[in-house]
Amino acid sequence: MIIVSITGPSSRRALEQMKASESYADIFELRLDLLDANNVASLFRAASKPILATCRSRAQGGNFAGTDKQRFDILSEAVRLGAPYVDVELAAGSEFIERFRSEHTRTRIVLSVHCTDGEKIDVRHLYASMRALAPFAMKLAYVAQDAADIAYAVEFLALARNDAMKAIAVAMGEYGEATRILYRKLGGWATFASPQFGAESAPGQIPARLLKTLYRADTLNASSKVFGVIGNPLRQSKGVFVHNPLFEKMGMNAVYCRFPVADLERFMTSVAPMLSGFSVTIPHKQSVMQYLDLIDDRARAIGAVNTVVRRRGKWYGTNTDASGALDAIERGVRVKGKRLLVVGAGGAARAIAYEAKRRGADILIANRTDERAKQLALELGLTYLPHDFLPEAKFDILANATPVGMVPDVDVSPVPARILKGKIVFDAVYNPPVTKLLRDAQRAGAKVIRGTEMYLNQAALQFELYTGRKPSPTLMRKLLTNAAND
Ligand code: NAP
Repeated sequence: MIIVSITGPSSRRALEQMKASESYADIFELRLDLLDANNVASLFRAASKPILATCRSRAQGGNFAGTDKQRFDILSEAVRLGAPYVDVELAAGSEFIERFRSEHTRTRIVLSVHCTDGEKIDVRHLYASMRALAPFAMKLAYVAQDAADIAYAVEFLALARNDAMKAIAVAMGEYGEATRILYRKLGGWATFASPQFGAESAPGQIPARLLKTLYRADTLNASSKVFGVIGNPLRQSKGVFVHNPLFEKMGMNAVYCRFPVADLERFMTSVAPMLSGFSVTIPHKQSVMQYLDLIDDRARAIGAVNTVVRRRGKWYGTNTDASGALDAIERGVRVKGKRLLVVGAGGAARAIAYEAKRRGADILIANRTDERAKQLALELGLTYLPHDFLPEAKFDILANATPVGMVPDVDVSPVPARILKGKIVFDAVYNPPVTKLLRDAQRAGAKVIRGTEMYLNQAALQFELYTGRKPSPTLMRKLLTNAAND
């Protein structure tokens, strides 16, 4: 069940919200604490889906500040207007709940708890308190501070599944996004969605259209394979827009979610066991290595893992950035015997330098913090160039492996334009697709290679590692272009 929260506040807005999401909703939740009270009856009449009536108190994160008696009357009126489902907060107390049940014997009570203080949750205790009241369904919503907090939802739904109870568990905020997508995988009865961007009734709600068409959340089940990306922050990550449509195109029962992880240790022990594989991005490319059973030689030499897959119950780590970048560069020119200047000394620089050296390039490395470039040069056997000497560098190919030029600071370049004349210039930055560095290079008559090419190559390799199947490059390119507009 996808429950779409209708928040209005005007009835005109509420009608628009219902219209925008009716193809994706199974139930409309009318947020009576947020909607303009004068025209609520007309919304009940206009709704094309069954109604869940909710009047959320301030204490539980809503806007209702009246008395229990007033709330009882509002919810009773909603039943009279035809709501088959009513949200009743556990905090209202057993007397309120029992009285409501006895007066509305046919109404399905969704008993809810909202933990908004970010404190640790005693899931078993909460579950037992709710279960004792034998509602139609139980709902736990809480604010997630980390993707590792998804574990509370997993535990709550597992308890309910064991008792064959209907349950909803939502981790609010961007850290809990995956709980909204994986509800069926985890045995949940329903999830909550927004009718459209900008009309969320709770932080982290995904528009119903995306939930259904991108994530296909309503088609997932216990056997669905879960993949995703771990990192922090992840708002800029485009992987969900590429991998999910590929799964759909290939008829695979799989989904790809964002997991913004702060505490990697907790995530690896509590949430990762339900994943079949994941991409790794800043800041976990190095730290993830300690949790893996096997790391291939390339990733070990680079010192960074960007792809993890489960093979026969073991975690296996590799790096697709290296060949992703070099395959992109070599579509323009073979690097063998050429002098490649790498700017940066982080994860991407290490991957590019390692793979280019393996393919026979002669590598110069420069970085804002000289010491790191010196260290990397020593480790991989490269030539170190002090950062101040960048304007004098002699090279054939330039690879930018710093975030300089990335959104939002798009008007800066890591090197002066005058050194680019007649060169081959690659930028690992892919947002925007054409950076200041690449614009300068074009103007200087250089051949340019975009970071999107590296992105597509490394994502294709990841997809193959996840599924054993090669994705269509044309389709991937189209998906990435569409993702830029999402
Ligand atoms: P990282 O490990 O954090 O390394 C960042 C590097 O950039 C460091 O060497 C850092 O220098 C340098 N740097 C940061 N800010 C700078 C500034 N303002 N001026 C000069 N140098 C600066 O990051 P990463 O994983 O290597 O990623 C680097 C870039 O590559 C990012 O933009 C990322 O999006 C991109 N990337 C793209 C792909 C793709 O598929 N296209 C894949 C991976 C990465 P210090 O040592 O002085 O801090």
